[in-house]
Amino acid sequence: MIFSKTKNKNGNIDGMSKTVSVRHGAKTYRIPVDERGIVPSWALAQRFQEIGYIRDLDEESSVVLPAECTPKELIEWWIDPSKCDIMGLDTMDSRIYDVSGVKEPSKKAAQRKIAIVTADPNEQKRIRRVLSESFTAEELNTMASNGSFVIRTVPNCGDATGCYYRRQNGMEIPLIVIENNTTPDGIVHEVVHHARAVDSSRKGKMKTAYPSDKKGKVRTRIYSSLSRKKKEKILEDEEKLTVAETIVRTGTDPNQSGYYDTVKNKSSRTAYLEDRHIITDTPPMLPDSAVPRLKGKAAIRAVQKGYDFTNIARTEILSRDVKKR
Ligand SMILES: [Zn+2]
Repeated sequence: MIFSKTKNKNGNIDGMSKTVSVRHGAKTYRIPVDERGIVPSWALAQRFQEIGYIRDLDEESSVVLPAECTPKELIEWWIDPSKCDIMGLDTMDSRIYDVSGVKEPSKKAAQRKIAIVTADPNEQKRIRRVLSESFTAEELNTMASNGSFVIRTVPNCGDATGCYYRRQNGMEIPLIVIENNTTPDGIVHEVVHHARAVDSSRKGKMKTAYPSDKKGKVRTRIYSSLSRKKKEKILEDEEKLTVAETIVRTGTDPNQSGYYDTVKNKSSRTAYLEDRHIITDTPPMLPDSAVPRLKGKAAIRAVQKGYDFTNIARTEILSRDVKKR
């Protein structure tokens, strides 16, 4: 499984679950289940976005399956989600796809294509607000095309704050797992990974270096043939550029990325606050709260121009791990 973890490189993230094989006709389907044997909502959302239609959310189906089903109980839906509905998933009252809290009309359609699976409805609204505040409508539309992505919050992510599972074999719809109440930087960081993977208008260092196709799907065979050094370089650049782009888009965050802990000779907080000024090309004496937040082309330009001068660009986030091995 190829994914990018945020904040701490040693954390264990158990974002994935077991799968169960279900035979139907001549085909076998591998369907994720939780520890109770129930298909989790985030996996249903992935399947819905992979082969379903968003307009299905606005249509009432005569057959509605309960929210919690085993793979066998929902196999008909899994094969074709337009056949019936699953309570709370693709029914009209779906909370996962609820965008009633999205203020900008230009961002509603894209947000509607992004599943956000949270235990607390307010957390779902907060995450949508962070997305709207940090990305333009155009960017959201791009990120939400080709099946979009799914966000899932969990009570505890180990010693990381989040994780981005790229599109790859066995994971057709990218999945972001974040800890409940993660600050905006933690949320935006994972979404920037997604933008870097799927936005084909990005060039050079603004685009992920993971070998992938047009839809951002990792070419696993090519990736696994790379040397360890090359893989580490890809990961290192991916994380550092994602950190840099995130701080351009967000306001002063109470918890800067854990990758700042690897900056030498200054505190991680100082390095982070300096980088916000450097990358937005604003004078150091300007108060932190006055550093502008950028989106769209302005954000991309700022990273392209300012990245090489930042603390994060010059640190080695993997160095400690490499020595250990
Ligand atoms: Zn990351």
